[in-house]
Amino acid sequence: MGDADGSDPLKMGNTMLSGMALTIQTTPMIIGGKRVLASDEATVDSRNPATGDLIGRFPSATTADVNTTVAAASAAFASWKRTEPDGRAAALNALADLIELHQSELADLDVLDNGSPIREMRKDVVSAAKQLRYFAGLVLETRGETVPTSYDRLNYTLLQPYGVVARIIPFNHPLKFAASKIAAPLAAGNTVILKPSEHSSMSALRLAELAIGVLPDGVLNVLTGYGHTAGDALVRHPAIRRLAFTGAADTGRAIQAAAASSNVKNITLELGGKNPLVVFSGANMARAIESAVRGMNFTWQGQSCGSTSRLLVQRDVYPDFVEALGRAVNALRTGLPDKETTETGAIINERQFEKVKKYIGIGHAQGARLVAGGDVVTDGEFANGYFVRPTVFADVDPYSRLAQEEIFGPILAVMPFSDYDEAISIANGVHYGLTSSVFSNDLRTVHRFARDVQAGYVWANEVSVHVPGTDFGGVKDSGLGREGGVQELLSYTESKNVHVNFEE
Ligand code: NAD
Repeated sequence: MGDADGSDPLKMGNTMLSGMALTIQTTPMIIGGKRVLASDEATVDSRNPATGDLIGRFPSATTADVNTTVAAASAAFASWKRTEPDGRAAALNALADLIELHQSELADLDVLDNGSPIREMRKDVVSAAKQLRYFAGLVLETRGETVPTSYDRLNYTLLQPYGVVARIIPFNHPLKFAASKIAAPLAAGNTVILKPSEHSSMSALRLAELAIGVLPDGVLNVLTGYGHTAGDALVRHPAIRRLAFTGAADTGRAIQAAAASSNVKNITLELGGKNPLVVFSGANMARAIESAVRGMNFTWQGQSCGSTSRLLVQRDVYPDFVEALGRAVNALRTGLPDKETTETGAIINERQFEKVKKYIGIGHAQGARLVAGGDVVTDGEFANGYFVRPTVFADVDPYSRLAQEEIFGPILAVMPFSDYDEAISIANGVHYGLTSSVFSNDLRTVHRFARDVQAGYVWANEVSVHVPGTDFGGVKDSGLGREGGVQELLSYTESKNVHVNFEE
């Protein structure tokens, strides 16, 4: 691993942020508390999805770099596991303080790197700090239990950290995921190697930079590069027994197989979704329409796993609902992501942009009715970016590609249903099962839906809200395991049963 010319690494970051850089800098990885480049000095370009501008470069880690990183994280574990819970909590809270202090810089960095609107990225920074604080507050909860046995014997459990935890994250909430996904494993006493997406690594690197001096060297390591190289080497590493992945379902399955090639790993998978929002007649229609727009997460160009991208509306209210929905979606303001007024920004990269356009073509080809958007924005300041107007297709066949496949872009598929049985059959008729939402004034319908829907998260007369401390995760191809609550903390520990005979 090459040492970065780290004479003033913060300046390197600032130079890049100013937008006035004469030369494009490489932001180093932070491994074992040191700023390092890849061993072969290879880099990945970071581009602004809204303008196409090159905004920086970061290292493309090699297998040798992965080995060095695992060694650094393993070495740091020896002392981190001995750090008192209070000490771990204080470090996480101090990192949260620094995130809040640098809120504006971190949000700007995500806007440049990721293309989502500034007002959304600011919320991500707030949420990142909150998650760190939440898990800092839970450090005393990795407690075991005593089990009644005989008079002169003691049986108890110890919950112990795994050691080195690898966390691989996607592009869509760069800083928020970088911070929130390290919180539980660190709180539980593990050291962490974080691998951000090659499409949005900048804020994770900045986070690691901020953590220098706050977390002991090697406790948090940020390794950058491509999934099929750096990510794959990390997944296969025999010294890693605990791995958590957030990303696409196909990648998750490949990771499960690759992980098994070296040893038995405990894996959490937070994968994709094709989530239903179901509106029964009699529900509050104004709220349901507003929620259908919000639940689709057009604010992140639909690039959110929890997006309710399938909208099912009962037939008797369907025509009016679709018309009002089309008006609401057409009113969303597409704009450059750094503008305060922008409600929907740029798609992450050319590949995703082409994918979204392909699905618009599929919608037309299968005879779905376009009721909003459907076009790209290329004029003036949008000429070099990846902008697609928020799009709604109605009368979509529930078993067509548009209704079955995760697009991860700003396309909402709307379909009618006749009664409860048909609604639940369509809602469950996909491979995924992440989030779901039901709008109804009838308590029976709400509770039947919550019982019957195949999803890990259910909203009723609500959408998008993630209550802190609750478990989030999917069923079916949407994943394995739960994150966000105490269950996540405990998942970074292994239980050991201890039986002691103290008879004379
Ligand atoms: P992706 O699967 O392409 O990449 C995610 C991460 O995995 C990246 O860091 C990438 O470098 C790495 N990676 C890719 N191939 C790898 C391999 N073979 N081995 C190891 N690492 C590899 O996903 P993406 O395009 O960045 O993100 C979009 C997907 O993430 C969507 O499917 C979305 O639904 C899902 N997602 C899920 C959640 C959730 O909580 N369930 C949250 C956000 C996003």
